[in-house]
Amino acid sequence: MENEKMPTATTTMEKIVSLAKRRGFIFQSSEIYGGLNSCWDYGPLGVELKNNVKQAWWRRMIQGREDMVGQDSSILMHPKVWEASGHLEGFTDPLVDCKKCKQRFRADHLTTPNCPECGGELTEARNFNLMFKTFMGPVEDQGAQVYLRPETAQGIFVNFQNVLTTTRKKLPFGVGQIGKSFRNEITPGNFTFRTREFEQMEIEYFVKPGTDEEYYQHWIEERYNWYKEMGLSPERLRLRPHDPEELAHYAKACIDIEYFFPMGWSELEGIANRTDFDLKRHSEYSGNKMDYFDHETNEHYTPYVIEPSAGADRATLAFLIDAYHEEPDKDETRVVLRFRPELAPIKVAVLPLSRKEPLIAMAKELGQELRRHWNTEYDDAKSIGRRYRRQDEVGTPFCVTVDFQSPEERTVTVRERDTMDQTRIAVDELVPFLREKLG
Ligand code: ATP
Repeated sequence: MENEKMPTATTTMEKIVSLAKRRGFIFQSSEIYGGLNSCWDYGPLGVELKNNVKQAWWRRMIQGREDMVGQDSSILMHPKVWEASGHLEGFTDPLVDCKKCKQRFRADHLTTPNCPECGGELTEARNFNLMFKTFMGPVEDQGAQVYLRPETAQGIFVNFQNVLTTTRKKLPFGVGQIGKSFRNEITPGNFTFRTREFEQMEIEYFVKPGTDEEYYQHWIEERYNWYKEMGLSPERLRLRPHDPEELAHYAKACIDIEYFFPMGWSELEGIANRTDFDLKRHSEYSGNKMDYFDHETNEHYTPYVIEPSAGADRATLAFLIDAYHEEPDKDETRVVLRFRPELAPIKVAVLPLSRKEPLIAMAKELGQELRRHWNTEYDDAKSIGRRYRRQDEVGTPFCVTVDFQSPEERTVTVRERDTMDQTRIAVDELVPFLREKLG
């Protein structure tokens, strides 16, 4: 693991928010009605980027490992799940209200005994449950009350036996899923970093008790390396083990992978040793056995669980921030998102040099051909320099320019985003050329 160094911020959150809106990565939710606090919508480029993040995670963590399988459980679950998991009782933040200005604060975030806004007197702290409640069916009574899940993890625990019997997996093995979670956060903010509706990418990795510490280490390295390999700068990544008093009630150990966001070091992902807490509790609350029969040792036991729990929105935001670069370019500043090709929302842009035939026809045809392989954009508006800049700004790794020689020679120019090098190649070689570069 890297030693601690003081990283430099690549950019500010204002610049990221502005680029995200201007280029269609992320919009405020319900903007025409003034927006809804802490809710965000992913636009045409944002959905591609976030999908690429999720796919990269899924390919590597689920499909790329023999010991992993995936699932997709529902957001609404039996209310007993949240009793068993401890969320009904324990998933709370302590809150205080200012008696004067009526603002509400998290007691554990306050540094003064009085209201930080107006100096007014504060109420006693009360616990506020972070779970969103709703009702199932037409009658809004207690018996119909259900919750929007605050984590995807419980959907994996309750299916433990189903997955075990259908896949015939042997320990150690893990189950992963990606899905929405909801938390009525008191202090959402920092763009998509903390929201009330967000997406998680979670793994529950089941192991034989006694081997848990070894697999805990394994997953810390696996997940840390994933962020590095996907392009986050190592100097902006660090590991922060939790102090014993910080540990959740179920955890034996927990560590955060943190990223140096514009607001400072903040959690990207938590990796916890959840012991056998969840399976034992579900066994107790449901009356169904949640244990494992070990054919080698002929014994029954409840597996321990290592949980690498990541946020898809936080990871997407970190990749966006880390990719952001500004560099001098003649009299202007070139903004370029240096995404790994795997994450880039658009892989190739096809740009005809002029809006004349036969350039347009050839460019459109090429665009259609490339679209069979990669997300491809066609753009014929404004000067070629402006179009290159527009593609740099959204991180497109390659631009294919169709010029006046192209139709006759059956050649095009490929311009590379980071080096801005241009290579002339035959149209027939374009797909193999890009395939080699894009992977
Ligand atoms: P935090 O301390 O930031 O509130 P947490 O420790 O409660 O996070 P976990 O319960 O460990 O978070 O959730 C796992 C991951 O889910 C986090 O590392 C984060 O990436 C993501 N996540 C959690 N809460 C939010 C949120 N409100 N908005 C966006 N992502 C979130």
